[in-house]
Amino acid sequence: MASIRIENLCKTYQGSFSKAVDNVNLDIKDKEFIVLVGPSGCGKSTTLRMVAGLEEISSGKIWIGDRLVNDVPPKDRDIAMVFQNYALYPHMTVFENMAFGLKLRGYPKAEIGKRVQEAAEILNIQQCLTRRPGHLSGGERQRVALGRAIVRKPKVFLFDEPLSNLDAKMRVTMRTEIHKLRLRLQTTFIYVTHDQTEAMTMGDRIVVMKDGLVQQVAEPMTIYDRPANKFVSGFIGMPPINLMNGTVIRKEKKLFFDEGNFRVRLVDEMSTALASYIGQDVVLGIRSEDIYDKLFVPESSAENTIQVTCEVVEPLGAEVFLYLNSGKNNFIARVGAHNRPVVNKDMEVVFDMRKVHFFDPKTETTII
Ligand code: ATP
Repeated sequence: MASIRIENLCKTYQGSFSKAVDNVNLDIKDKEFIVLVGPSGCGKSTTLRMVAGLEEISSGKIWIGDRLVNDVPPKDRDIAMVFQNYALYPHMTVFENMAFGLKLRGYPKAEIGKRVQEAAEILNIQQCLTRRPGHLSGGERQRVALGRAIVRKPKVFLFDEPLSNLDAKMRVTMRTEIHKLRLRLQTTFIYVTHDQTEAMTMGDRIVVMKDGLVQQVAEPMTIYDRPANKFVSGFIGMPPINLMNGTVIRKEKKLFFDEGNFRVRLVDEMSTALASYIGQDVVLGIRSEDIYDKLFVPESSAENTIQVTCEVVEPLGAEVFLYLNSGKNNFIARVGAHNRPVVNKDMEVVFDMRKVHFFDPKTETTII
């Protein structure tokens, strides 16, 4: 168990003009599960690899516990890493794969046997111990990779996209397995993924990265409800948040967002923050679950009701996605399973204006 402190961490690869990791600062608490998330190339793996000691640091400092580890070799950092490609030895049995690291460190045979058995039990792979990786399913191989990390009883687990090679169903299973594992092991985890669902469901806190820069560090629901900028709002959430450009206008002392083809009234609580944007462009963000079919909310105000065409209806069982078109913007509403509007016909939808976000179109930062 250990806290991790990352201070002004930078990485510029040789021959590159831009920073792969740009001044990252993070304070990770003991036993915290931190998820680094972002699109491909945003620098999350490089950050993790610098914590592991597998990548040289260009500048900055990393502490694991009280120890500055910048110059500590990976094997002495008391960390265990799980990779996307499992990195198992094909000629060794599962037992030998899991035991290998301990053997290298000179652990007694009895202790190695005990730890491997324990880990195999936790991961439910006792029946695989005598097999080689080639005779295992993808899920089992991933469990062995986890087992190899667990037996070490490290202070910190570093996971680099460990579920990417699994099919969709197995990913969900392994996600919950890692969740349970985490509760059982009570260790500090840094988990890298580009999958926002993994980030939302697993992380105590999420670090959203883009172009080497940290965009926001917060608990999952804070990231979802109060994104720091347009990028974060669009990266977290499925389907992605609906974003549309428009102008803030004032009519008879009321503020409206004017998209061009429709107009919706801003709630009074947002008026102060948007007062300086009157007559100017802004970006409105609304999540799909905050758009309703007017038929099911007849009491809602005409001031946040708009006319759209429903182009596609996608029933998903428990809910339905409606692909809507205002004539200028396409957006998605996520409504109850009972909603089945007619395709290619006009319909009225209601925006829950208390839930919308506004972003500055130039800086892309959140206005409110
Ligand atoms: P992915 O999800 O695709 O693994 P990532 O967010 O983990 O992406 P990194 O692998 O950390 O991103 O890469 C960050 C940037 O550094 C990218 O632009 C990448 O091309 C570059 N990069 C990574 N490894 C090297 C390397 N060994 N040499 C040069 N550039 C590299």
